[in-house]
Amino acid sequence: MKTVVIATNNAHKVEEIRTALDFEGWEFKTLRELGIESNPIEDADTFEGNARIKARAAHEASGGLASLADDSGIAVDALGGAPGVYSSRYAGVDGDDAANNAKLFEELADVPYEERTGRFVCTLVFVDEDGSETVAYGTIEGHIGYELRGTEGFGYDPLFLPDEFNGELTLAEVSQEQKNAISHRGNALRELKALLA
Ligand code: IMP
Repeated sequence: MKTVVIATNNAHKVEEIRTALDFEGWEFKTLRELGIESNPIEDADTFEGNARIKARAAHEASGGLASLADDSGIAVDALGGAPGVYSSRYAGVDGDDAANNAKLFEELADVPYEERTGRFVCTLVFVDEDGSETVAYGTIEGHIGYELRGTEGFGYDPLFLPDEFNGELTLAEVSQEQKNAISHRGNALRELKALLA
């Protein structure tokens, strides 16, 4: 059995990773499940840089197990790509989804629908036992809506209207399965699976 450390404790991401990378003989364990403390400072200015910091730290902290990290966020065109790598702490407190969503609405208050375009971006960095690296990327294009809709998913899902749904549904109004089929993380995981196969 090959054990791969998932360098996150976000339950949504963990579930998505386990479902997508269903290689025979592989098992995925979170840092928490392995009793490992790894909280490196994510101070890179790109998603890839921050994913690499988390994957390398988990590889070290686990004594050389294969490790996988995700770094992701939302980039809004009218805001020059913000919040980008600062997505989880956009309003000041790390992981405060309600405050982050409120701040994004506030920043876009005067921006018309056709200019409220943006995308979720995901970079995955996989570090194998021998330290070799595989990197995969994924995006999903859409618009920022005017109100929070739906209870599925997390983060900015309730305000994001993917192009695939013609602006009619947010990412929080569809099942996890429907989200995975089109999402930035789903796309990055499909690319990673192909690269590792
Ligand atoms: P990370 O966990 O450091 O990669 O931060 C990612 C942040 O970007 C999260 O806190 C969310 O605010 C946002 N984000 C990333 N992926 C998603 C997603 O699939 N849906 C909604 N928000 C997301």
